[in-house]
Amino acid sequence: MTTSLDKDSRADAAPLVVLRNVNKHFGALHVLQDIDLEIQQGEVVVLIGPSGSGKSTLCRTINRLETIDSGTITIDGRPLPAEGRELARLRAEVGMVFQSFNLFAHKTVLENVVLGQVKVRGIARDKAVATAEELLERVGVGAQAAKYPAQLSGGQQQRVAIARALAMNPKVMLFDEPTSALDPEMINEVLEVMRRLAADGMTMVVVTHEMGFARSAANRVLFMADGRIVEQNTPEAFFTAPRSDRAKDFLSKIL
Ligand code: ADP
Ligand code: MG
Repeated sequence: MTTSLDKDSRADAAPLVVLRNVNKHFGALHVLQDIDLEIQQGEVVVLIGPSGSGKSTLCRTINRLETIDSGTITIDGRPLPAEGRELARLRAEVGMVFQSFNLFAHKTVLENVVLGQVKVRGIARDKAVATAEELLERVGVGAQAAKYPAQLSGGQQQRVAIARALAMNPKVMLFDEPTSALDPEMINEVLEVMRRLAADGMTMVVVTHEMGFARSAANRVLFMADGRIVEQNTPEAFFTAPRSDRAKDFLSKIL
């Protein structure tokens, strides 16, 4: 399969995602404050922090679901334009998976994964169907292809949502609390798909409360509070020796 999962020889290339001095307000609320962030190709970054700290907003700015007030965001060396065709094209390179699966309820599972390929990517239907079947297989829901989303469990639906995002051949995948809406017994099947994706070399930004996932799959943990990246480190160092009081306080509440 030719997706960006095939690692090309870019080990020491420029970072895939670069945010420079990004600021965003919602009215009087300074929700992102001077965010500087570089994400390397193949890196798995887990973003944690208290509710309201700006994690979702940060994710959403990376594919321009939110505009920014100042600063720059580049993906693979190209600045994210404000609007237009170029934006649509670049946005398609950033896959996003939300807490709510957002599948098209009146389309089959297969069609959910085919649609974007045909409409956004302009891929021929036959080829899009073949890719969709392969991706559904890969996330373990190949047998559900002809069903409608409501006929699937939450964990299965979220895996379809991951397949749908992958079908666009993204350069980076953003996951915003992908398991938060799931019943506990379904969390692992989704995390397992994400772990495999990470192992296959996908560049990922993951907002999650699953600290086991952060420890085992992340290359780097970013801790956000009040719109700032307060602290970042390897998972090992972050979880065993957080430096900031905010991080210590946060970890004492969740661990
Ligand atoms: P997190 O994902 O870390 O919980 P968010 O990025 O969702 O945080 O939100 C950060 C802050 O911005 C919160 O105070 C939230 O209420 C506020 N916020 C988020 N989206 C909007 C919006 N569309 N309009 C106004 N305020 C918003
Ligand atoms: Mg959020």
